Amino acid sequence: MTDLSEELRMPTPCPSCGSHRVRVSEVHNPDNKVFCSSCNTYRGIYSEFEEELRTAPKSEKERLIEEAVNKKDS
Ligand SMILES: [Zn+2]
Repeated sequence: MTDLSEELRMPTPCPSCGSHRVRVSEVHNPDNKVFCSSCNTYRGIYSEFEEELRTAPKSEKERLIEEAVNKKDS
């Protein structure tokens, strides 16, 4: 089975392991579940994460890291 997931970097860390990376489906359905890419803790649904990515206040450094990590080279 093809792996249709991708990794995103979130402003908030995982409550369990502190990782900022989450794994989401490439399909990006609003009700898709989002999991920590390190420890697989359930982090929420995609629509909440999309909202957080848009609205979360972040430093310039954080924004640049996120931009670099989230950039898709396809
Ligand atoms: Zn985690």
